Amino acid sequence: MDFTASPVVQLSQARLSYPTPEGEIDVLNGIDLQVGPGEIVAVTGPSGSGKSSLIAVIGGLEPLSGGAAQVLGTDMMLESERGRTLMRRRDIGIVFQAYHLVPSMTALQNAALPLTLAGEDDAQDRAKAMLERVGLGHRLTHRPSALSGGEQQRVAIARAFVAAPRLVLADEPTGNLDQRTGEVVIETMFELARSSGTALLLVTHDPALAARCDRTLVIEGGRVVS
Ligand code: ADP
Ligand code: MG
Repeated sequence: MDFTASPVVQLSQARLSYPTPEGEIDVLNGIDLQVGPGEIVAVTGPSGSGKSSLIAVIGGLEPLSGGAAQVLGTDMMLESERGRTLMRRRDIGIVFQAYHLVPSMTALQNAALPLTLAGEDDAQDRAKAMLERVGLGHRLTHRPSALSGGEQQRVAIARAFVAAPRLVLADEPTGNLDQRTGEVVIETMFELARSSGTALLLVTHDPALAARCDRTLVIEGGRVVS
């Protein structure tokens, strides 16, 4: 870890509220968080505590309602929606519990997507190399419906890492997988993050998995409790 480099994520009293028919509900109630380059941080806490909302704020999917969020040196409060979209193509990878692959695209096209959207000429070659690294070199032309859950999640991991981002966010990436398959998926993600020095924020309910991270952030009621 390089503590002299500027943080990858820096949240100060970050707040998020959602409007509902019954009025605003406060989901993040002043979160302070700093993640350094290459750091692997587990995020745990009960269901409904705000873990996915935290990922959404850091990934620029939800605008803050208050406080400050700097991600990779960018002030997420000031950045435009377009700017935040570009960050997700180049600088931030996201892995969701339910994979979120494009059903009509092959594994190769899915894994290449951030690079294709960014207009990179070597998108296919880099995506192929990344699928080989996650053990799916023999599944390039399969569509998601022809892949197992674990294979789909490995495609999603290849997509998250393909653009060599400095930050990957993973929201319960093994939540839909059996234990053995989940272990393979996690090993793949740790290996990619450690070898490329990518910072990783990993939401998990698994204490054994959290223990393997550099540290653990516990959230309850939209607040950091430890
Ligand atoms: P976790 O991932 O820890 O289970 P979430 O971040 O998904 O928690 O949700 C935190 C709280 O915010 C929950 O009470 C949830 O119902 C609420 N919430 C999440 N998304 C929305 C939304 N789009 N509109 C209104 N409330 C939401
Ligand atoms: Mg969640």
